[in-house]
Formats: sequence, C-alpha cells, structure tokens
Amino acid sequence: MGEIVKADIITVGNELVSGDVQETNGRFLIGRLRGIGVKTARISVVGDEDWAICDVLENAFRSHEIKLIILTGGLGPTRDDITSRSVAKVTGKRLVFSDEVLAHIRETMESRGEEMHPSQEKQALIPQKAKVLKNPGGTACAYTLHHHGKIIAVLPGIPSEVRLITDQLLLAEIESELHPQKSESVKKIHVLGLPETKIEEMISPDLRDIAGLQVAFLPSPTQVTLSLVAEGAGAEKIVSQAADAISERLGNYIFAEGDGSLEETTGNLLQLRRKTLSLAESCTGGGIGEKITRIPGCSAYFHMGFVTYSNEAKSKLLDIDPALIDKYGAVSKEVAAAMAQGARKIGRADFGLAVTGIAGPEGGSEDKPVGTVYVALSSDEHTMAKRFSFSGDRAEVRERAKQAALEFLRRKLVTS
Ligand code: ATP
Ligand code: MG
Repeated sequence: MGEIVKADIITVGNELVSGDVQETNGRFLIGRLRGIGVKTARISVVGDEDWAICDVLENAFRSHEIKLIILTGGLGPTRDDITSRSVAKVTGKRLVFSDEVLAHIRETMESRGEEMHPSQEKQALIPQKAKVLKNPGGTACAYTLHHHGKIIAVLPGIPSEVRLITDQLLLAEIESELHPQKSESVKKIHVLGLPETKIEEMISPDLRDIAGLQVAFLPSPTQVTLSLVAEGAGAEKIVSQAADAISERLGNYIFAEGDGSLEETTGNLLQLRRKTLSLAESCTGGGIGEKITRIPGCSAYFHMGFVTYSNEAKSKLLDIDPALIDKYGAVSKEVAAAMAQGARKIGRADFGLAVTGIAGPEGGSEDKPVGTVYVALSSDEHTMAKRFSFSGDRAEVRERAKQAALEFLRRKLVTS
C-alpha cells in the first residue's frame, strides 16, 4: 500500500479571524478528504493579509509530508480579496488573464440577467498554468496548480460554492492526480438516553476482543456519539463487526448513524407508519418545527406547528381552559398534556407533541427551577407527559428540550 496522502487546509478571510463568521469550510473539506483516503494534517485560519497567507503557504511547501494544499476564500472581486496574488508570489508564477474564467463570469452574470461589473475582471487573473475548475454556483472560479511535487487547490470562500466545487470537480481531480488509498474505515453511531459511562460499561465486553479498533466517545449536551475507526487491511470488516455488536447491545438507544439526525429518524418512522404530526411549542419557540422541516419530504407527515408562548395563545389556539392554566401553571404536566391534545385535535394529526418549560435565566421557582421542561405526546389512544430537569443556559435548555420532545416521539414510534 502506498503512502498516506496528507493535506494542509488554509482558510482565508478577515471575517474568520475577527470572529464575525464561524469557519466551516475546513470541517467540510476534512470530511470529504477523509472519504477518499486523504488525511488532513493541519488546518490554518488566516486573515486577508498577504504576509499571513504567504507565511502559512511557505510552511506548507516546506513540509515533505504534505502533498495537497487547499485554500478557500479571497477570490472575490473586491480589493480585500488577494489570495491569488499571494499564491502566485509564493509559487513564483505570474498572474495572467484567463479567457476561460472571464467567459464563465460573463455567462454566469448573463444567466442571472445581470451585467458584468468591470471589477469582476480581476477574478479572471489567476497564476499561469493553473487548471480552472469552473464554479457551478458562482462567478469566482477555483483552480489547481502543481508546484514542487504538490497540488495546490484554490477555492472561493462561500461555503455552498466550496461544497459544489469539491463534490463535482475537486475530489475527482485529487483522486486522479494523487491516487490516495482508502486505508481507514470510520463509522459514527449516535446514542440517546444513556450516559457515556453506562454506554462504555455496556459495550466494552463486546469490543474488547476486536483487534485494531479505536473507539472514541464524543458526548454533547444532547447525545453521545461513538466514533469507530480502524486502519489498514480489514479495516471495514473490523468497524462493521464492532458496529453490529454495539447495535445489538444498545438497540433502540441508537437513534442514528453517520450523518443521520434524530429529526430524520423520527420523520422516517412517521412516514413508515403512515402517521402525521402536529406540534405545540412554548419554550422552544418553533424550534422543533424548524428541525422537522429541515428534512426534505417532511410534508408527508408534518401538518402544523403552534407557537403558543403566552397563556392567552395556549387557550385561544389550542382550546385549553384558562382555569387549567391558572390552577397548575403554564409549565406543568397538565398544561403540557392539554397542549399536546390541542395540537393533535386542532392540528388534525395522528400525534400531537408539546413542550412547555422554563428556559431561564429568569422565571424559575423552588419547585420549578430553571431547566424544568414538560414534554407531552398525545395519540388517539392516550396522552403521556414527562418532566425533565435540564442543566445549562437558556440555549442549552432549549436545545435539550427539542431533542427530548423528538426522542419522546421516536420512542413511542419504535416501541408501539
Ligand atoms: P466571492 O467571489 O463569492 O466573494 P470569495 O472567495 O471572495 O468569493 P469570500 O469573500 O472570501 O469569498 O467569502 C465570502 C463569504 O463566504 C464570507 O463573507 C463568509 O461569510 C463566507 N466564508 C468565507 N470563508 C468561509 C469559511 N472558511 N467558513 C465559513 N464561511 C466562510
Ligand atoms: Mg473574503
């Protein structure tokens, strides 16, 4: 087997180092490169400054280990976009006008019914001998260059464009030029309802005898993700053997694998069982509906969501007796149950799912402190409600509440 191909990723943009925009291109590229057998050795984030870009680029060129350098950002038409100039400088190449890029910019602008702005011509200035990768999603083209036995790929910064160019053009180019060997097998398993210590206790006897397996526990406020990795010959078999053992042991505690999510799994189950859902949300403010509608095709099972924040909204929209709210309080088992029933009946669905709680930082009391959340689920058979006590700040409590509500529904769907 050949040497492992290693990559150095450099993301460029003042907005990234000032903290205005969260850097996401790096993470995306790492995942895609891993998928074709390229290992990312380093990732740097730099501002739109020539010295900073040159500094990290020179470093990457000095390293014998690195065979692939990917830059994103700074290919735009404005003065602050200087990446190509820095790349040309470090590689000792001249910047030349590319007729191919110029035609692409003109065609893209025409297809949008707009005219090309003179400043956009600058985007056609690329290092000589660069190979153009036409941007299917925008004007700024990507390109690759060979220099000192390495490939350098330069991409625009906009994340959706990075995804399109990478998937449609760049990965194929890397594979044909560098022939990376896929020597690693990776699987992620997402678990809910068990703490990581308990998960470890349950699965470690099964995994002890699987040689060459690396297991990592990645806990977050809402779930625990298990990462299974094996390298070299038989890697895939090792990982699938471990995944089978874990799946057998943890059963329904596993809610998704790989890129899957709780909302996707729950949506798939609703579709499979031909059931529909309506929501009544208080402290999550529509966040469960937002998650559910992320999944393409959700119109097959999702009917409507009520965001009933005030008491008045709860009684008017969900037909809840104001006396019930007065008696038990808006954050109570009884009101959560009534919200779920209202969502089901008025929302004309098979299931009504409801959340009411105290996300904080104010509004807590001794018997209902901040983090107290009730989740209720109503079906034509019965209505169930459950109390949760979540820790964390407002954002975390809301996130946990969304996850708990979806999990409540998923549990019902897998066990009935
Ligand atoms: P364009 O011609 O489309 O402007 P560009 O290469 O000049 O291409 P940038 O100006 O660097 O792109 O970035 C455009 C926007 O994309 C930035 O405002 C930022 O919001 C986003 N962006 C850039 N790089 C990243 C990154 N690494 N992670 C997340 N977002 C990014
Ligand atoms: Mg920029």
